[in-house]
Amino acid sequence: MSAKIRLYVEHPLGAGQSIPLEKEQAHYLFGVMRQRLGGAVALFNGVDGEWQAEVSEAGKRGGSLTCVAQSKPLQMPPDLWLLFAPIKKARTDFIVEKAAEMGAMRILPVGTDYTNSERIRQDRLQAHAVEAAEQCGGTYVPQVDELQKLARLLDCWPAERQLMFCDEAEVGNALQLAAQEHKDAPWAILIGPEGGFSSAERKRLHGLPQSHVVSLGPRILRADTAAVAAMTLWQQSLGDW
Ligand code: SAH
Repeated sequence: MSAKIRLYVEHPLGAGQSIPLEKEQAHYLFGVMRQRLGGAVALFNGVDGEWQAEVSEAGKRGGSLTCVAQSKPLQMPPDLWLLFAPIKKARTDFIVEKAAEMGAMRILPVGTDYTNSERIRQDRLQAHAVEAAEQCGGTYVPQVDELQKLARLLDCWPAERQLMFCDEAEVGNALQLAAQEHKDAPWAILIGPEGGFSSAERKRLHGLPQSHVVSLGPRILRADTAAVAAMTLWQQSLGDW
């Protein structure tokens, strides 16, 4: 018998461990979900796997849960980063949600020469990643970074990390078998903004030794579609699917 409600908590989990609830969590569990003493809730914290817990105290503004037994071990996603240029708010939210569901380890919003949006709300995007993990049964929550310049990130790009560079100008260049040589390496996927990449960026990205230039088919996809398509391709050939 496992709980339908899943919550991410920032607290250690273990047999008999008591977890104090924050005000919003208490409101959600007792006000919205109508849980009572003894009610079942599944918990995860990104470190200790998933635990079945029971409501041991229920109040309007707080309460606590007690861990009973572990129901899933921690399952880490592959060491995959998703780099994308922020677009409109709802579409950016979508990209973060899908990246968490599809199994990214880290999500990095990057500013490019033609990036539409100069600002993001990192805290809101991180909350979307948490919600997606709660919903999809994940035991890990990808970290969402603050916005940083793509050029800066490339300046100190880790030597071993391979880059799947999705370039809409590369019609017909599917994810090559050569990428299989790097099956155990850490990877990143790069999706550009609505305006695409500048020629300077394209030149630099083509010249990067870790770069694998990939087409996502003969049609130009919107950035949010491209992110999902690229993660599907990568997971299918190099990931944990
Ligand atoms: N510059 C384009 C649109 C960019 S689409 C234009 O206006 O014509 C946004 C991003 O999605 C691109 O930068 C690329 O990373 C990715 N993308 C979209 N379609 C793609 C395709 N067919 N192949 C590879 N990448 C694609």
